[in-house]
Amino acid sequence: MTKKWIYPTPQGLYCEPGDFFIDPWRPVAKAVITHAHSDHAKRGSASYLTAEENEPLLRYRLGSDISVQSLRWGEKITIGGVKLSFHPAGHIRGSAQIRLEYKGEVWVITGDYKRHEDPTTTSFEPIKAHGIISECTFGLPIYQWRSPQAVAEEIGNWWAACAAVGKNAILYAYALGKAQRLLALLPSLGPVYVHGSLIGLNQLYEAAGISLLPWKPASEWKKEEGALIIAPPSAQKSRWLTRFEPHEEAQASGWMAIRGRRRQRALDRGFVLSDHADFYQILETIRESEAEKVIFTHGYTTQMVKIARLYGYEAEEWRTAYVGEDDLTDTVEPSEAEP
Ligand SMILES: [Zn+2]
Repeated sequence: MTKKWIYPTPQGLYCEPGDFFIDPWRPVAKAVITHAHSDHAKRGSASYLTAEENEPLLRYRLGSDISVQSLRWGEKITIGGVKLSFHPAGHIRGSAQIRLEYKGEVWVITGDYKRHEDPTTTSFEPIKAHGIISECTFGLPIYQWRSPQAVAEEIGNWWAACAAVGKNAILYAYALGKAQRLLALLPSLGPVYVHGSLIGLNQLYEAAGISLLPWKPASEWKKEEGALIIAPPSAQKSRWLTRFEPHEEAQASGWMAIRGRRRQRALDRGFVLSDHADFYQILETIRESEAEKVIFTHGYTTQMVKIARLYGYEAEEWRTAYVGEDDLTDTVEPSEAEP
């Protein structure tokens, strides 16, 4: 292998010959962005490079005045001798893996990714590389996802059961990605209301041609029964909820696979639906990449390094400031808070 040309720095993952950072957590001159979640897309960098599908979301999150260059899927540009291209990661709309090629050596940075089909985003594309830098938010064998359709059916049954006894169904989901995925997956069983933080994002998805269930802002709430209300997890602690009584509360998240998490949040139901790869899909991704070197960035990195070594990979972990699903999105950004 050539000298290390991608490595972690206090600003974020750095590609030295290209002089750019990938999802930097501090402002830099050139930021290459995998997706618009707030732990990956930070304000303050002088210029941004991202996938075309992500550009509207990035501008929505960081401001329309940022300097952005965007590339189509698979389109290659060369920066300081490094060939760079974006490939679908399937995590949320616009989410990308980054393929870097320098002096014949190929690395892929997965960003956050999932392998299950999702009607709101372009499907994950396996990439061959010499080295892979992967997230492992759900990198333990206890995490194995069921099909999203089966989970959507389960949520639909719960909503119908609430409606049958005159209750509203409140479903917590993070505002960017999960909420729209639910609105694309769920059957139409009654009126749907959404928290203020979802309005602009829903509109962006619809503008991109994604069909969502008909929805109304919660500010237009009229005393109803049998409605579905989608809100970010942070809304649970607020008085915002009282208007929807009587109600049941549930959350859709990969963390719902852990019973304790559901109890801790005092939820009536927990639905296991994640926008990240499960343990087996992480292994599948590494195998399909045909990489010899594997680096894990966030999640169960220590455990995954051990497992990858058992499989014969050269593996290590890098510390990053990424947090993964829900731990970040419990926060509603001030600009998105409901008035
Ligand atoms: Zn993410």
